[in-house]
Amino acid sequence: NLSKPIFAQDEMGRPFIIVKDQGNKKREHGIDAVRSHILAARQIAKLLRTSLGPRGLDKILVSPDGDINITNDGATIMSEIQLSNEVAKLLVELSKSQDDEIGDGTTGVVILASSLLDQALDLIEKGIHPIKIANGFDKACKIATENLELIADEVKIDTESVDANLSKDSDLFKAASTSLGSKIVSKCRDKFARMAVESVLNVADLDRRDVDFELIKVDGKLGGSLEDSKVIKGVVLDKDFSHPQMPKQVTDAKIAILTCPFEPPKPKTKHKLEVESVEEFKNLQEYEQSTFKRMIEQVKQAGANLVICQWGFDDEANYMLLANELPAVRWVGGSEIEEIAIATKGRIVPRFEDLTPEKLGHAGTVREMALGTTRDRILVIEHCDNPKTVTALIRGSNKMIVDEATRSLHDSLCVVRNLIRDNHVVYGGGSAEISCSLKVAEAADKQQGIDQYAFRAFSQALDVVPTSLAENSGLDPIQVLTSLKAEHVKQKNAYLGVDCLGNGTNDMRQQFVIETLIGKKQQFLLATQLARMVLKINDVIISGKDQY
Ligand code: ADP
Repeated sequence: NLSKPIFAQDEMGRPFIIVKDQGNKKREHGIDAVRSHILAARQIAKLLRTSLGPRGLDKILVSPDGDINITNDGATIMSEIQLSNEVAKLLVELSKSQDDEIGDGTTGVVILASSLLDQALDLIEKGIHPIKIANGFDKACKIATENLELIADEVKIDTESVDANLSKDSDLFKAASTSLGSKIVSKCRDKFARMAVESVLNVADLDRRDVDFELIKVDGKLGGSLEDSKVIKGVVLDKDFSHPQMPKQVTDAKIAILTCPFEPPKPKTKHKLEVESVEEFKNLQEYEQSTFKRMIEQVKQAGANLVICQWGFDDEANYMLLANELPAVRWVGGSEIEEIAIATKGRIVPRFEDLTPEKLGHAGTVREMALGTTRDRILVIEHCDNPKTVTALIRGSNKMIVDEATRSLHDSLCVVRNLIRDNHVVYGGGSAEISCSLKVAEAADKQQGIDQYAFRAFSQALDVVPTSLAENSGLDPIQVLTSLKAEHVKQKNAYLGVDCLGNGTNDMRQQFVIETLIGKKQQFLLATQLARMVLKINDVIISGKDQY
């Protein structure tokens, strides 16, 4: 008998009992397994539901070592919770893939997936086979996404005058602003919306409708307030000039970007060097100095007036650089070196011998900037040869605000990017979901077989978005949903959604609450895919554990 306890003694002679019950633990098969998976998903969705929408609440996440993190971003919450259930882990992956592809709608996708599973459970209890339900969901999802295309609208992007998109009335600005509505930064929403639009437009290629996200860097820096955040057209480094007496600004900078050590050659400790007299020592010292001088000469001959170096140099080298009027920055990280090279159109030089005038990077100004009253300084490289690099510098009074603001800006950068790639939108506040729900319910009546059930279930699952939004805004969810559905049919208006902020109208088009069409479609597709996957699982086998 496996569960028979074994008595043992530890090294101090104290007795203890070993109960080997792993082998006897009952494994769940079939419908029981599906049921327990769905219950696990329900728990996760319950947690996330309260964060949805502009009135959604934030969560405090405490990491194992006590760091705290405040957020309402679905993907972040999901990535931080420690989960042991396998299906819950699938949901984490789900919000991650929505985040990677689209960057927004990460809470919505999880809630929708779990709601689909909830509905499926009812059908399973009725005795319908999970695969039949999954197939029905697939067909229903197709109808829903087709409906999304039908109700989609287009936003205007001014390709002639880029600045026109920065005005408060422009669609891009309004879209960015909407995506920030539910975040901590909503206080300075306009500022962040403008930052998002400005950053994306700066790197966007409007003719090809392409945005190179690599060129946008979001950099959080503690101190100041959110209002002090700004977009810098260039690169920001968390560094200062290597010597305090070097000039604080270099104009018309010609930059040597070095990845080799920039200091006098030092005898390496692993080689033995015998110095027997003072004379010899002096010679050695002179040799070192003259070599370093030659290095400085080389840099100057190439025409550089600023050195950015991946390595450090000691005080002596630093002093000599100052004496030779060659400002320098040391210990610049590898990825930053690459950014500088791209921005200034310079080459990364790994050896002094390779340094030539063509390999230098160019920037209009390189200046040190103080941050508030702290002693922290940053180095700003502006007016670079490649005008497309931008850095969004985010300031905030504490780390949690800076982190959450960084995440929020990322979301709205994604929204603007998605709109530039594809300017089709659907309206939010649950209006798109209600419209699709009605459409799928209508299609259900025309179905002959079991699909009818699956279609109805799908249609009801979509209701979770408007009901959660209503719930989070303190409204009566059922009443809101039923009256909205009735109005959709009566007015033939697919843009009616939950008036979360109490603006007095349910027309989301008037309120300009938009979501990108690709984002919404992706939500539907991913959620359906996940539901399908979970419904098909009827056993969990954990490798390495004896379960029989
Ligand atoms: P997600 O992480 O899924 O993007 P959010 O917390 O940003 O979640 O909430 C997005 C949901 O809130 C969407 O369904 C969107 O339509 C809705 N929403 C956003 N702003 C408003 C608003 N002002 N009025 C009504 N609904 C809104």
